[in-house]
Amino acid sequence: MNKNSSNMMALAPNTSNKRETVCIFGTGDFGRALGHKMIQSGYPVVYGSRSSQISNLIPKDAEVLGHAEAAQKAAVIIIAIQRQHYNFLTKLADVLHGKVLVDISNNLKLNQYPESNAEYLAQLLPGSKVVKGFNTVSAWALQSGTLDASRQVFICGDDVEAKQMVMNIVRGLGLTPVDKGSLLAAQEIENYPLQLFPTWKFPIFLSLGLGLFYFFYCLALDVIYTYIYENNNFSFFIAITVPNQVFPAMALTLFGLVYLPGIFAAIIQLYRGTKYRRFPDWLDKWMLCRKQLGLIALAFASLHAVFTLVSPLRAFSSWRTSRQIVSQALNNQTQPLDHTNAWRSDSYLALGMLGFFVFVLLGITSLPSVSNSVNWREFRFIQSKLGYLALILCTAHVLIYGGDWFLNPAAYKWYLPDTYMLSLIVPCTVLVVKFVLILPCVDKHLTKIRQGWERNPRYSE
Ligand code: NAP
Repeated sequence: MNKNSSNMMALAPNTSNKRETVCIFGTGDFGRALGHKMIQSGYPVVYGSRSSQISNLIPKDAEVLGHAEAAQKAAVIIIAIQRQHYNFLTKLADVLHGKVLVDISNNLKLNQYPESNAEYLAQLLPGSKVVKGFNTVSAWALQSGTLDASRQVFICGDDVEAKQMVMNIVRGLGLTPVDKGSLLAAQEIENYPLQLFPTWKFPIFLSLGLGLFYFFYCLALDVIYTYIYENNNFSFFIAITVPNQVFPAMALTLFGLVYLPGIFAAIIQLYRGTKYRRFPDWLDKWMLCRKQLGLIALAFASLHAVFTLVSPLRAFSSWRTSRQIVSQALNNQTQPLDHTNAWRSDSYLALGMLGFFVFVLLGITSLPSVSNSVNWREFRFIQSKLGYLALILCTAHVLIYGGDWFLNPAAYKWYLPDTYMLSLIVPCTVLVVKFVLILPCVDKHLTKIRQGWERNPRYSE
């Protein structure tokens, strides 16, 4: 076929319903998987390969030719080859002139090369129109059809028409193209598949560390101490009692940690008298993972609710209840109802249920489908006002649960405070400082700073 006529084909508008032929360079895992998907979706596929021998793995309706020959048959060429082999493409510069080249490559490490693979390809072949795309979709997902989590295909490129052609193919495959702009965005798109839950890492490690700390703390006070000093073997506490102390302690501490960075940010702004100076990196990172911290806290609060519900079914609970009844019967006396205690237990249960309900509401509003349906002011109102309400209710639940137990020396085994007391440190600190921050004289000053006022303006006239 005439070289120029094939290049003209590159930007010819597709007026019929017939799908244009797509060329794929490379018959490796990804090239084959994408070829299968394209043929299923009605695209004729021609492979450009070093070998023209057709293997059983290649889709049977596809043609396999040499690179130059295959490139002449299509306007869009998908480069399903590793970046380190791109050099051979320079020999095909003439035939690839004016064609749309889709760079789908990924790297092994974040920022492995100074420039993105797509920019590198564009430098090698300045006459071609390079578009980045498909790199976040795996060959396995394409082949098995399990594309639910990777239905979005991020696309970027400098040539708008070329980008549009690739986006049409993406739609033709039943996927959703997401335009990320010019080729400058390629590095970011190439980094996506290399990231492993980036915003979850810190919250997960923090929860693991905190969980282990609380677990061994409870184990020491409730099992080991009792065994040593009271000669009681309560090792079975490890199954329900200890976890049911660790879960609420984790939930409350992590929930407090969701609001603590906001408190630090306010104090820093008040101290500096400006909002135009960057927060320290650790605070920025902490602020970015507040949602994840909140969701983990909610998970622990839910576990606490379930464990509390099953608690009365335990053999230990029925043994303790029957022991009290038998002891009253043997002493021939009925213990009168302790109204203070009844009030206390009813109040802490009610506060716990209300707190949990508001906490669940908060969790629901953080779901993208819900948060997308409110404007940012409504979202901030829910996350801040409803969030603080949930924190107050949950903190009050734990405070009333403890009652005046903290005044009793028996609460300090090995001179250590009970787990519930430790869990109150962060939320109580947050609530006390927040109370100071919303005092009118402080709040007015902070609002002024947040509206752009500076104590010592750097750019004064
Ligand atoms: P692969 O199985 O190793 O296949 C690469 C293909 O490149 C080979 O089959 C070969 O095709 C061709 N090739 C190898 N050496 C070459 C050379 N020196 N000169 C010219 N062509 C050469 O790799 P893959 O898994 O298909 O990945 C291909 C590209 O897709 C990579 O850039 C990868 O980052 C990207 N990607 C892969 C996945 C995935 O799930 N596998 C997902 C997203 C992106 P011929 O023998 O036909 O010439």
